[in-house]
Amino acid sequence: MDHLTQSKHVFKIELPTPFPVGDINVYVIKGDQLTLIDAGPKTEEAWNSFQHQLKQIGYSPKDIEQIVLTHHHPDHVGMLDYFNEEIPVIGHPFNKPWLKKDQQFFRSQSMFFKELFNEFGVDRHFLPILESLNQQTMEYSCDRELKGFLREGEVIGGLPGWRTLETPGHAQSHLAFYEESTGILIGGDLLLKHISPNPLLEPPMTSEQIRPKPQLQLNQSISRLLEIPISIAYTGHGENIEAVHELISYRLKKQAERAELVRTFLIEKPLTAFQVCQILFPKIYDKQLLLTMSETVGQLDYLSEAGQISVDVTQKTHRFFAI
Ligand SMILES: [Zn+2]
Repeated sequence: MDHLTQSKHVFKIELPTPFPVGDINVYVIKGDQLTLIDAGPKTEEAWNSFQHQLKQIGYSPKDIEQIVLTHHHPDHVGMLDYFNEEIPVIGHPFNKPWLKKDQQFFRSQSMFFKELFNEFGVDRHFLPILESLNQQTMEYSCDRELKGFLREGEVIGGLPGWRTLETPGHAQSHLAFYEESTGILIGGDLLLKHISPNPLLEPPMTSEQIRPKPQLQLNQSISRLLEIPISIAYTGHGENIEAVHELISYRLKKQAERAELVRTFLIEKPLTAFQVCQILFPKIYDKQLLLTMSETVGQLDYLSEAGQISVDVTQKTHRFFAI
């Protein structure tokens, strides 16, 4: 634990994960209730490390009174399985099917991606991957009920002064938590110091059936932070961020530049989303299809929103072109 970066009431705990992203940060907040923000992945290493570090600040897992989630990804929720079932888990309602490993939900998710990736021109031989989309990472996730919900503007029960911000983009379930009196933001994977979080494609979570546009959501979610004075952001991975507003401006600028690069491809000739993905990520698109397609579609959504490109939907496979 890095003692130099601790606040008086927020304690950062770094846990190992089996994922390429590396360690994850979870936070213990001393309030009216002893609260844990996020749990690590479901591995013995993470659990042992957690217990050891918790002991250093004078607690054991049974002292935790509630667990609040920034989002549903396995590295943030898996370890919930090791906690006593009595401890309430609270978060955005969209966490629910992921936490319970709802098979019906996963099946409809596969269907959704099959159709979408068809439209995007993804080679047919990749489609079987979509069947097993969650299998690899879900083994590190949990099987747990969500006991309480948090939505935009709500104060976390047992933590007076901590307000919830709905911040979709990296995940549809994503929340951040802000303490006005100190300017502390617990941002989950909304903003990370060294990498820009992936705007992951997800199926629509409501009955309206229009797919979310995660890059646009992410831009909006970080842009709204520019309106709030933030002294420090505690993040889901890596170091704390002190110059939050500067980093946000930098990230927005870099993303716009990336989109401009994509537009130059489309000025040359119309392309499917998959073709753009292959140009952007020639070495990894086949191994990291969902991640790289998410990044690609993010740029296309951004350019479409800005009125700089359009899409020809007369064929089954859609082609994007510059205007
Ligand atoms: Zn995540």
